[in-house]
Formats: sequence, C-alpha cells, structure tokens
Amino acid sequence: MKRHGFVEKDADPAQVYSNVKSLLQTEGFKVTDEETKSNYWDLHARKSSLERIALGKVRDVDVVVAGNKGKFEVQLNAGVWGRDLAIPAIEGIATLGVAPAVELHSAHEFEERMWEQIVHKIDPSLKICQLDGFLFNSEQELQNHIKMHAQQQQASQSSMMNSMLMMGMMGGVGMMGGGMMGGGLWI
Ligand SMILES: [Zn+2]
Repeated sequence: MKRHGFVEKDADPAQVYSNVKSLLQTEGFKVTDEETKSNYWDLHARKSSLERIALGKVRDVDVVVAGNKGKFEVQLNAGVWGRDLAIPAIEGIATLGVAPAVELHSAHEFEERMWEQIVHKIDPSLKICQLDGFLFNSEQELQNHIKMHAQQQQASQSSMMNSMLMMGMMGGVGMMGGGMMGGGLWI
C-alpha cells in the first residue's frame, strides 16, 4: 500500500483522480465501484476474469484521493489473488508455498510502477523511496532516508518487524501515519 499527502502542489485532486483512473484503464482494469463526494474520490478496479487466470497478476486495485487543491492525500492499494478464489485443488497445493511470495512481489512491482506515474504527474521533481513509496524533495533527502532503512534493518535483524519490512507490507505508513487526512506524511 502506498499513501502520501501533497501540499501546495499545482495539482487538482479531481484531476489526479481522473488521471489514476485512466492509468488503470490503460493497464486493462475495469472500474467496478466508484464513489465521489466533495473532496473525496474512491474507486475499486479489477482485472477481467480471463486475465486473472495468470498467476501472480494483480487482481484488485483500490484508489482513494481526498482533500483540496493545496492539500490532498493519495492512497493506492494493489491486491492479488485472494484465498477465497477457486483455485483448482492440485494447482492450489502445488503453489501453496510459492505463490504468496510471487504474488506479493508482483503486486509490489505494480504498485511501484503505478505510484511513480501518479506521483510524477503531480510533481515530476519528487524522489520516491522504492521500499515504501515515501516522497522526498531532493536526492539528498532520499539518500538519508535510504540510510535509515539500512540502519533499521540492522537493528531489527532478528525481529518479526524485519520480515514484515522485507515484504514491504508495513511500508512505514501503517506505523506512522494516521487515517486518511489524519497525521499522515506530507510533502
Ligand atoms: Zn523508504
């Protein structure tokens, strides 16, 4: 999951939202659910059933844009095959141990690619941390942040947190950020 707040950018959240929507449509997703209120845009998109057959493909994407021009937040969440899906028994057993890693990897890559396009449409000069999608104004700030990741990793080598970090599941946002428009991170 990627989430970040944007302040004083020359971008309209409504415009950001429609850009994300057309990006997803270009990627072959169908918008299945859409909710727009004032200062709040929310969509759920998914791949057609045919395309979902390929293992490891991103299946669902959720996007939320909230706020006004001058201060808004964007959240992107790409999901993979749910455990509830009917996977043929034999294939299910064969891939049980391997699939989650493959799927997570694929979703992570997809998120990274989408996130980069979304962010750079808002502000092409922003630098993106590949590990958690955090944004920085300069290469120097990004490098400092990446150093922090390395230190964190060393400090928590043996803990559970480390494996979660490695899988890109926490992304720091869940730990430090609040709810939408709450005490998240802003740039
Ligand atoms: Zn990072």
